[in-house]
Amino acid sequence: MTEENSLLGLAVIGVFFCFISDFLFKFLVIGSAGTGKSCLLHQFIESKFKQDSNHTIGVEFGSRIVNVGGKSVKLQIWDTAGQERFRSVTRSYYRGAAGALLVYDIASRETYNSLTNWLTDARTLASPNIIIILCGNKKDLEAEREVTFLEASRFAQENELMFLETSALTGENVEEAFLKCARTILNKIESGELDPERMGSGIQYGEASPRHAKHMHGTQLQNRQQCNC
Ligand code: GDP
Ligand code: MG
Repeated sequence: MTEENSLLGLAVIGVFFCFISDFLFKFLVIGSAGTGKSCLLHQFIESKFKQDSNHTIGVEFGSRIVNVGGKSVKLQIWDTAGQERFRSVTRSYYRGAAGALLVYDIASRETYNSLTNWLTDARTLASPNIIIILCGNKKDLEAEREVTFLEASRFAQENELMFLETSALTGENVEEAFLKCARTILNKIESGELDPERMGSGIQYGEASPRHAKHMHGTQLQNRQQCNC
């Protein structure tokens, strides 16, 4: 098969999956440089550790369909583009995100100390209602640990974040982190606390959703323009 053919095949599969999901959630991965954000994304999408992780150039992007409580949800995940060094991640990157993984490195207190800044940015530039899971990554580096589980879980509790320690290297809790965040968003949609039809909610109905047909009548053009699948 030629490269063009395989790319075309992938595009067709992507479009097909986009059309069978019930929801589409935009997720961000934020946190200081070197905490393992790109590796977490790679582990979640490819189920393997990214050995040659260079600093991310441009926005890295991944998507995967997951099953959450019987609903199929397409997670569209954006990985910061190296600007985290300068904390100059743009407003357009944050805009309309439904969920975020806020990552620090358990073996680097410095990355833990910057969490408050990242949190402020997420809540002011994305949405005050953004669902955030705090991820203490590099859980495998126990011997070099600088941040205890207990203090990070207190920080999470005080700031209304979910919390997990993860390892992009071993894969431990990586899937759980994304799923936990998606499950919470879905629960909030079902309880009416989150409205997918609100502009900038970071949530769209997939074509498989019965709500989609109703929603499409008035906003077909707008929806088509927003759809990045
Ligand atoms: P980013 O700048 O936040 O995107 O970080 P990267 O994903 O590029 O990872 C930075 C460095 O940390 C790389 O050398 C990775 O190999 C390493 N790394 C990432 N995740 C883990 C992990 O879970 N455990 C260990 N031991 N190293 C990791
Ligand atoms: Mg990166």
